[in-house]
Amino acid sequence: MISVRNLTKVYKLKGKGGENNVVALNDVSVDFPDKGLVFLLGKSGSGKSTLLNTIGGLDSFDSGEIIIKGKSSKKFKQSDFDSYRNTFIGFIFQEYNILEEFTVGKNLALALELQGKNPSKQQVNKLLEQVDLQGYYKRKPNQLSGGQKQRVAIARALIKDPEIIMADEPTGALDSNTGRQVMDTLKKLSKDKLVIIVSHDREFAEIYGDRVIELKDGKIISDETKHEVAPTKSASGISYIDDKLVHIKKGQDFSKEDLIQIGKLIVENTTQTDTIISFDEKSNEAIKKASFITDEGNCEVFKPTTSNDIDRKQYDGSNFRMIKSRLRMKDSFKIGASSLKHKPIRLFFTILLSFVAFAAFGLIDAMSQFNRADSLNETIKQTQISNVIVEKRKDINESYDLMPIQQNDIHDLKQNNKDYDFYPVIHAQGRGGSYSSPSLFYYDQNNYRQWYSSSGGTNSSNNPFAYPQISGFMEINQAIKNDLDLEFVAGGLPENEDEVCITENLYETFKDYYKDLENVEELIANKVYLDYSGKYLKIAGIIKNKVDLTKYKNVQNWNKEYKLAQEVYNLISKQALNMCYVSTDTFNTMYSNYSKSNRNIYIHCRDEYDNHYSFQPYSFSSTGPYISEHLIALKSGADINNLKADECLLEENIFKNYFNVTTVEEIKEKLNSGAEINLTTEDGEKMYYKVLSVIPSSYYHSIQQSEYVHTSQHFGSWHNGLIIADEVYNAKYVGYDQLVVKLKDNNSKFLHYCDKLHNGGYYSVQCIATDMLDEYGNLVVAFSKYMMWVAVGIAVFAGLMLMNFISVSITYKKREIGVLRAIGARGKDVFSIFFAESFVVCLINFILATIGCGIACFFINRAFISSGFNITLLIFTIRQVILIFGVSLFVAFISTFFPVRKFAKKNPIDSINNR
Ligand code: ADP
Ligand code: MG
Repeated sequence: MISVRNLTKVYKLKGKGGENNVVALNDVSVDFPDKGLVFLLGKSGSGKSTLLNTIGGLDSFDSGEIIIKGKSSKKFKQSDFDSYRNTFIGFIFQEYNILEEFTVGKNLALALELQGKNPSKQQVNKLLEQVDLQGYYKRKPNQLSGGQKQRVAIARALIKDPEIIMADEPTGALDSNTGRQVMDTLKKLSKDKLVIIVSHDREFAEIYGDRVIELKDGKIISDETKHEVAPTKSASGISYIDDKLVHIKKGQDFSKEDLIQIGKLIVENTTQTDTIISFDEKSNEAIKKASFITDEGNCEVFKPTTSNDIDRKQYDGSNFRMIKSRLRMKDSFKIGASSLKHKPIRLFFTILLSFVAFAAFGLIDAMSQFNRADSLNETIKQTQISNVIVEKRKDINESYDLMPIQQNDIHDLKQNNKDYDFYPVIHAQGRGGSYSSPSLFYYDQNNYRQWYSSSGGTNSSNNPFAYPQISGFMEINQAIKNDLDLEFVAGGLPENEDEVCITENLYETFKDYYKDLENVEELIANKVYLDYSGKYLKIAGIIKNKVDLTKYKNVQNWNKEYKLAQEVYNLISKQALNMCYVSTDTFNTMYSNYSKSNRNIYIHCRDEYDNHYSFQPYSFSSTGPYISEHLIALKSGADINNLKADECLLEENIFKNYFNVTTVEEIKEKLNSGAEINLTTEDGEKMYYKVLSVIPSSYYHSIQQSEYVHTSQHFGSWHNGLIIADEVYNAKYVGYDQLVVKLKDNNSKFLHYCDKLHNGGYYSVQCIATDMLDEYGNLVVAFSKYMMWVAVGIAVFAGLMLMNFISVSITYKKREIGVLRAIGARGKDVFSIFFAESFVVCLINFILATIGCGIACFFINRAFISSGFNITLLIFTIRQVILIFGVSLFVAFISTFFPVRKFAKKNPIDSINNR
C-alpha cells in the first residue's frame, strides 16, 4: 500500500559550499507490501531511521515522493502528513515515549481519541490483554518496567488498528529475552499488517523478517525476500539441503547410497571446513535455526526481492481517506496545565506581574470612565443627600458662565423627569448689583432699630458662620414643605406677604451675634426683620437644619480650617443651609423686581478686530430724567424709551474705542451715519445692535474691571455697557438662579439628563460633594490619560514574561508534543495545548486582576471618604471586568501564538529528539 520514489534527504550542516552536508537518503525507491514484516537493516548512520521517519511522515524530505494507497504526497501540506500519521500509522520507539502524566489506559485511549473516536474501557483492556498487561489500566507509566512500557507503546500503536506499524529499534533498550517477546508480538501482528522495523541486528532481521532491506550511506544496497524452498531428497527421503547441509529427520530410514553420498560430501568438504555429526537435540535445534531449516524440513532462503514478492492490492488513490486529528479540550488542558507545576517560581512572577498590569488597566479604565453623573449618583447614595441645587451653565473656554433658568427650562426638566419637582430659587442679592447679603435688624426695648453687626463676633473673620450670607429665596407652602421634608423648629409657614422663614443655622448665626437674643421664640416675636432690597420681612418660622454642623461648630480657628470653611460656604450655596422661604406672592414680587435689577450676567464678546469686551446687559422701560439729561449724544429722531430688538445704548468708552472716535462731534456724526456694533460672544453667538445713543461712563456707579477685557487700557473696560430692549433682555437674561430638587432613590437618569445640553446650556447639579467631585474627577481623567501608557507598558512587559514562560514550557514539553504528533496530533492541537496552558494563566490573572481592581477602586473611594470628602469617585463596573478579561486573553493569545507557531511547524521527529 505504500511506495517510495526517489526519496532524497540531505542534512545541511554549517560549512563552506555544503562540504559538511550529510546525504541521509540518496534517491531511495522501494515498494512495500500490504502485510508482512520488513526490516530496514544497516550500520549505524546508514539512514535507516531517516527512511522510516520520512515514510512515516515524522520527518520531511528534500525530493521524491511517497505514494500511499496510490496517492502521492507531492501535494501534502504539513497538516496532511499529520492526518496521514493519524490515519495509517502506529509508531513504536526505542525509548517507548509514552506520556508520563497520563495513566496507561489514557495513553492508549488518547491515540484513539485523536481520531475523534471514543474508546471504551473494554476496548482498552482488551488491547492491554493482548500485550500481557491486563489490569494495568490505572497504572502510571513511571511504575512500569522497560519491557512493560514498550508493550504499552505497542498497544498504543495498535489501538487505532493502523494498517502500518513502524518501529525504530524497538528492542534496543530491552534485554534479549524481553526483546524476543516484543519481536514475537510484532511478528504476530505482521500476519495482517505491514510492520516495518529498523534494526542493526542482522540475525534478528533474518530470523523474524519476511524481507530485509539493507542500507548503506543512504542507499539501498540489498533487498531480499525470504523464500521457503523444499530441498532435494534422496530416494530414501533424506534431505540434501545444499552441497553443505544434510538433514536426516527423526525416525527417517536411509540407504547404502545415502551413506556413500554423505561420505563423498565429507571427503569433498573436510579440507575446507569442520564436519560435525551431531545427535544432540539441543545443538541440532540451534543449527536448524541458524540454517533456516523449518520443522517440516524445508529451508528458508533470502533471494533478491522481485515485484512478484511484493504482495499488494491495486490502488488508484480513489478511496484514499484521511482522518484529521482532534485533541479534546479536556486533554489540551490536562497536558497544558500539567507543565505549570514544573516552574512555580517563574509562574508566580509571571502571574504577579501580569495581574498587576491588568488590574492597573482596569483601574485606569475606571478612571478614564469617570462620569460626573454616575459618580454623583453613587455619592448621593453613599451620603444620603436628599436635596440638590441645579444651576444652568454654559462652558466657555476653561470656565463657565451661569445662565438664567427660564420657564422653558423648567418645563423641559419636568417633562423629561416626571417624578421630580423643581423649586426655583433667586439669589439673595442686595441693591446696587454687588453681591451683598440682606441685613438683619431688630428693634430694642425702646423701639430703636438696631443693626446686626458682624464685627461683634468672637471668631476670626474667616468664620463662615459670622456672616449671614443667604443661600437664596424660594417659595414655601404646605406642599413644598412636605415634599422637601422641611421641619419647623419654631413658628410656622409665612402667612402674610411680609413674612419669611429662615433656617436654624441663620437663626443661630444671628443669636451668636445678638447677645440679648435668648431663644427662638424671641426671634419670632415680631421684633426681628430681614431687610431685603429695602423690603422688611418679618420672621415667621425657623426651619430645622438637615445637615449635622457639629464638626464645624467646634472649630476654634477658622484661619487654620480653611477646608472646613470652604465646606460651610458650599453648604450655604449648595445645600440651602441659609435659605429664606417666602410665600408664593412675595416670591413672585421679589422675582419681578429682581429681574429688573442688575444681575451678575455678563456677555463676553469679541469684535471683528478680535478685541475683547465684557458687557453686563441691562434694560429699562423708562429712562427717567437723569439719563435723558446726561446722554452724551442721541441719534436724531431716535426714541430711546421704546428700544427695538436690534437697538441699543452704548457706554461712552466702549463706543469711542469700538468706532475709534474721541470728540462729541465725532460721536454724533457716527451715530447719525448709522453706528452698528457687530460682536461674537465667546460661545459663538453673533450680536448686531444699532447704537442709538451714548451714555457717559460717569452714569454707572458700579464699575468693575473684567478679566475678559485684555486691552483694558485702550478699550473700554466697563461693564454695564449695553442697554437693550426689554423684550430682548427678558427673553435672554431673565430667569431664576437655581432650582431646588428633591432626589429619589436612584437619580442616574435625572443626573445624566442634566449633564446633556438643553436650550444652550446644561444643568449643573450641585450639592455639598460636587466641588470635590469636579476637582478630583478632572484630575482623575487627566491622570488616566498619562497612566494608560504606563499600563500598556506594564502589559507589554507582562506579555513578554508570559511569552518567555511559554517558550520555556515548550522546551519542557518538546518531546511529549513530538510524541503526540507522532501518534497523530496536528499542529493545531499543539496550539491548543499551549493556549490551554496560557489560558489557565490568563484565567488566574483575570480573577486576581478583577479582584485587585475592585479592591483598588474601593480603597481609593474609601480614602476620599475617610479624609472627609464624601464622594464616590471610581465606579467599578462590568466594563472593567470585560476589559481585564479581554486584555488578559489578548496577551495570552499573542504571547502563545508566536513561540508556538515556530514550534508547531517543526517536524515531529525533531521534537521527539529534542532538537
Ligand atoms: P541510522 O538510523 O541508520 O543510524 P540515521 O537515519 O539516523 O541513521 O542517520 C543518517 C545520517 O544522517 C547519519 O549520518 C546521521 O549522522 C545523519 N543525521 C541524522 N539526523 C540528523 C540531523 N538531525 N542533523 C544532521 N544529521 C543527521
Ligand atoms: Mg537510527
